[in-house]
Amino acid sequence: MTRDDLRATFDRLAAAGLHGVPGVIAIDSLAPGPVAGITACTHGNEPAGLAAIGALLAMYDAGWRPALGRLLLVVNNLAAAARWFAAADDAARLAARFVDTDMNRLPADVLSRTEADSEGTRARSLAPVWAMLDAALDIHTTQQPSAPMLVEGAADCSDLAAGMPIGIVIRDIVAMQIGVPAFGLYRGRAFEIEAGSHDDPAAWALAAACARIFLGNLGMLPRTAAATPPRDIYRVCGALRLPDARYELERVFPTFHPVRRGEVIARGPGPGGAGLGPDLCAPTDGHVIFAPAATRPPSLANETLFFTRPVERQ
Ligand SMILES: [Zn+2]
Repeated sequence: MTRDDLRATFDRLAAAGLHGVPGVIAIDSLAPGPVAGITACTHGNEPAGLAAIGALLAMYDAGWRPALGRLLLVVNNLAAAARWFAAADDAARLAARFVDTDMNRLPADVLSRTEADSEGTRARSLAPVWAMLDAALDIHTTQQPSAPMLVEGAADCSDLAAGMPIGIVIRDIVAMQIGVPAFGLYRGRAFEIEAGSHDDPAAWALAAACARIFLGNLGMLPRTAAATPPRDIYRVCGALRLPDARYELERVFPTFHPVRRGEVIARGPGPGGAGLGPDLCAPTDGHVIFAPAATRPPSLANETLFFTRPVERQ
């Protein structure tokens, strides 16, 4: 799978549509069954989902149809992904994550709002498609190299993710984050994978493999024979957002760094015991995830990091 292949897949989806909604291809079976969704490019700079969709479209072109139900292939953030493909350098590619609003930080009432922002408008356009989904896999990647992860919203999706070669599960993050992620607006059960780093072909290959396994778990493809690996489950129980630019994290926290309840995570401006404070502390024993790569975050608009309960091994 090359960048040109991703581009061809993107162009094909952008030119297609379902009931007037662009960026959607439906593949129907002849048997009743669930409506499954593979959604790509919720963040415009994360092309791995296009690799997964491209592989399924190649099967479709060769005559494959799902054994049952209906498959919807969707590019969520068409405008941002178009910017990514048009970008001339790394800065422009990074900026192609979204146009106006992070599609994983949408306002909770986005579907009833009327602003003309690119992502809100797109979410309202996609709402009838998202409302069809019984089960969906939303494919993401990360900026930093990272082990692949499953990210669940409110629903346990273990059965839908059985057999995926992913050993880390982030659970319950939707209730703790600012705004709503796109997949939180789908009607049925949905989850994300973080397949690896953005431009790594290994992440693209993993995304394609996970999409096939997902469809196997729904009975639309032959079920994978692969065993589910042991999984470390991290339940998100809190978020920390630095209140202003004078706060600084105590250290750079690698993801899954263990912390103790009451441990100082960030120090604020005075007055305080050491001329600093009020300090911001860990709410519970557990771990820190998704902290920035520096002690001062690049933006104060989003959560600086999340807290999880102590890891559960499954
Ligand atoms: Zn993403």
